[in-house]
Amino acid sequence: MSSDIRKLIVIGGGPAGYTAALYAARANLEPLVIEGFQWGGQLMITSDVENYPGYPEGVLGPEMMAEFRRQAEKFGTEFITDDVKRVDFSERPFSVFVEDDEYRAETVIVATGATARQLGLASEVRLQGKGVTYCAVCDAAFWRDVPVAVVGGGDSAMEEAIFLTKFASKVTVIHRRDEFRASPIMLDRARANDKIEFVTNAVVEEVLGDSAMTGLRLRSTTSGETSDLDVKAVFVAIGHDPNTKLFLDWLDHDEAGYLVTTGSTETNVQGVFAAGDVQDHTYRQAVTAAGSGCMAALDAERFLAALEGHEGTALAAPRTAQ
Ligand code: NAP
Repeated sequence: MSSDIRKLIVIGGGPAGYTAALYAARANLEPLVIEGFQWGGQLMITSDVENYPGYPEGVLGPEMMAEFRRQAEKFGTEFITDDVKRVDFSERPFSVFVEDDEYRAETVIVATGATARQLGLASEVRLQGKGVTYCAVCDAAFWRDVPVAVVGGGDSAMEEAIFLTKFASKVTVIHRRDEFRASPIMLDRARANDKIEFVTNAVVEEVLGDSAMTGLRLRSTTSGETSDLDVKAVFVAIGHDPNTKLFLDWLDHDEAGYLVTTGSTETNVQGVFAAGDVQDHTYRQAVTAAGSGCMAALDAERFLAALEGHEGTALAAPRTAQ
């Protein structure tokens, strides 16, 4: 067990976590980033990123994340490439456990992100970044004047389909039922768009293609029959899940599990901050996540500055114990 009490632990290795670490390291907070076994976050399953400022030629998502990490490391950030097993935010210093090792810190930034729900197909995983994508804002411009598909029946699916019509020649929305979860206004807007077609009562059985996607095999949920759809890309829009399981007993969250921050990046536990997609289900962009990572580091720095000379106090109890 480590007995050192650090100034800051950042949990999560995506744009928010690495940016928080960069700012914290340059402020001499000597941050430890517990970045997860699969570090890098959602950009690790994208290909070109063309909307991150400063990369006019675009950059590969995994490459960009490696650069974020390298920049944080340059200023003295330490990394543990493993998953956090549990946390204890009952008193400061806070405890963060990786396997049986305990790490303690006066402040913690939670930047564990969110995970786009996947269809659960091997062919989907194989063709990620080669036609299979989870973000229209990020990737729509790669699919100009070709037919594409969107999977989902919620507001995200409608929003993505409408956005995609600016680029694609045709957008087919595939939904597993014939009733929609989307709000009537979004659904009406999508239905009124000439470029959008709907295939209901259908699921994706397979993403077709070897090195690039060539189409989708659909299965009717009513007849069981299969048919192939000629599309060059599929935008899976079946929702996101915030990676907050570890924190739900300690930190305020909404019904979907997103952490609630007040003011800036403060959570309900003084000294614990949240940044990036873990507390933002609206924007979900690398640049907004990085921005809130910067905010969290500045908030942690100010908190530590104000703390000097004060003793540790009991700040929260697990909700299950309340
Ligand atoms: P959502 O409302 O949970 O909808 C997910 C959709 O994906 C549902 O239609 C669901 O089908 C379908 N789905 C889930 N798992 C599937 C699977 N394995 N295979 C096929 N289909 C699957 O998620 P969301 O659309 O991302 O929206 C999340 C929240 O953000 C909502 O509250 C939404 O209103 C809000 N939002 C608002 C806006 C806006 O107002 N502009 C835009 C985007 C999102 P079933 O219906 O059959 O369950």
